[in-house]
Amino acid sequence: MTILEQQDWQDTLDSFCHAAARQILAGISFAEFRLRTEGMLPVLLKTLDVPKSSQTTEMVRSMATQVALEIWNATPIPENRFRPRKQAKPERNAPCLCGSGKKSKQCCAAIDAPPLGISEEIMLTQVLAIMPAKKLAELPLLELHPESLALVASQWINEEQPKKAVALLEKLFVHIDQLDGRAELAADTLLNAYLEVNAPRKKQKFIDALKAAPDKALRSAGWQRQTTVHSDRGNYADAWIAFREAQRLTPNEPALSHLEVLVLLSEGRRSEAQARARFWAARLSRDPEYDHSDLIRLLHDLADGSDAGLLRTLPLGRGPQADLGEAISHWPAPACHYRLSGGAELTPKKDLSELELDWMELVEEGDLEIAILFLGEEPLAGQSFRILRDVSEMISALPENLPGSGDALSRQVLERGAALRQVVLSKLKALKKELPWGFLDNRPLLTLVSYCVEAFIVTRPTEMLDLMRWSVNVANPTDNTGLREVLIHALVATDLADEAIAIAARYPNDFASTEYGRVLAFFAAGRLDDAETALKAAAARSPKVWKMLHATNPKVPRFNPRGITIGGDDEAYDYRKNHLELWRSTGALKWGAAIKLPARPTAKLKTAPPVDNKQKPLF
Ligand SMILES: [Zn+2]
Repeated sequence: MTILEQQDWQDTLDSFCHAAARQILAGISFAEFRLRTEGMLPVLLKTLDVPKSSQTTEMVRSMATQVALEIWNATPIPENRFRPRKQAKPERNAPCLCGSGKKSKQCCAAIDAPPLGISEEIMLTQVLAIMPAKKLAELPLLELHPESLALVASQWINEEQPKKAVALLEKLFVHIDQLDGRAELAADTLLNAYLEVNAPRKKQKFIDALKAAPDKALRSAGWQRQTTVHSDRGNYADAWIAFREAQRLTPNEPALSHLEVLVLLSEGRRSEAQARARFWAARLSRDPEYDHSDLIRLLHDLADGSDAGLLRTLPLGRGPQADLGEAISHWPAPACHYRLSGGAELTPKKDLSELELDWMELVEEGDLEIAILFLGEEPLAGQSFRILRDVSEMISALPENLPGSGDALSRQVLERGAALRQVVLSKLKALKKELPWGFLDNRPLLTLVSYCVEAFIVTRPTEMLDLMRWSVNVANPTDNTGLREVLIHALVATDLADEAIAIAARYPNDFASTEYGRVLAFFAAGRLDDAETALKAAAARSPKVWKMLHATNPKVPRFNPRGITIGGDDEAYDYRKNHLELWRSTGALKWGAAIKLPARPTAKLKTAPPVDNKQKPLF
């Protein structure tokens, strides 16, 4: 089973057990329960992919009997001091439980159905979940399995009732002196609940209590959480002290592997993280008692640092990034839900445009969690350039699950956008058409293209060069996304100066970045006279850029959150940061230094057209 199929199966089994617990607690008889189980069975069989043809009456009846028996005998009854009221399995020659009147061995016991693996803890969780909170608080908590309490509490957290979870688990940990490692999940759940109710001091106090617990495993758990707290704050010295303490207490604890690799990664020590991941993997694989293959895979995925590895580990965590990763993984293959109105405007068809309206309403409200939920529930969302653009903008606002996971997710969304662009434009025969920026519906696709260039220009320069050519020359000749700057300089860097000159020529009196790019292009093409004229014009219009290119150690200016100031220090600094290397390597910097420039700008500047690809952040 894949992780998703497992999830599906788990969900089905969960609701199955939940319904069963309700019925048993309501006091129905075993015979009645068996009959209802038979009615609910098809859902289970469907999730298990059992074909209808093999579901004979005998098979369903027999399976219902065995499943009913398994669940019934695992369900703790509150009035029975939380012990099941067991129904004995009939002798082989006794009448069958299904009421057929036949002997058991000739009836339901004749077919061998493997048990579902439903334990008392699982059913206890269901029973506790059904009970009212008030009644729960009166329970003898120490008599119940702490993992079941933890599961009930996490359910409350998921249902946005973290206070209830805190109340229940704090009551459990009053008895911390009598608890052992089995309470670790409950401890983690309480820590999560503190996070949800925003009580960092209570959280630290509880970690301190764990660190002082009599039980070694709990004490180690306390030091492990302390490690994470320090690491999250960037305090690695104390993080390692806490980690060593946990390691001293429980050297064989498998969770330490994951923790150590994570802290190394957050600290940016990737090669050591990889070495430790290999070390732990070898060690865990020798464990004779448990199969750690999932953990081993996770360690390798974490340490290898590839996007695919990170994205595979994402669903194992919690939080919005994990939810978003999950939502994206359910999107179907890209398909075209657009038409080309008037041969130039990318218009979403009815289903998609309705979805986008709902989405925009959600975005207005600015609730990230709900937005992510929407993406999971509406697979069509993955077919919308507008939604993909918004998603790629909102990722940076999400708390990071693992070091680098935000960037990996963002690249995944951009790749999706690129694949969708191919599908849609091929289908609409619009690959060689202009998609004017003036039409609002064209903008999301064009903006995604510019994000894509930004994300992949270093790792896939050739592909991005072609993408920029397409954007600047074909789709968006007014280049409102500002790609010409990157394109012109990239062309110069790849010895395609003539092409750079031609592109720069299409944008006369442009931003400083185009003006100086033009100089570079002429210089690289060996047209020194043209280069000199262009340099004089550029330096007259944007003198700060020229000064900044020659400065030895320029101060970082204040950046305007609304964008670059034309003629400002920030513009000059930005240009230097992005292109100084090219000026140096081409020799243009040295050449230019020898040219005498007019001392002051000759004319009042005309403002360049605004670049409006960077809209204000949505979230
Ligand atoms: Zn039977």
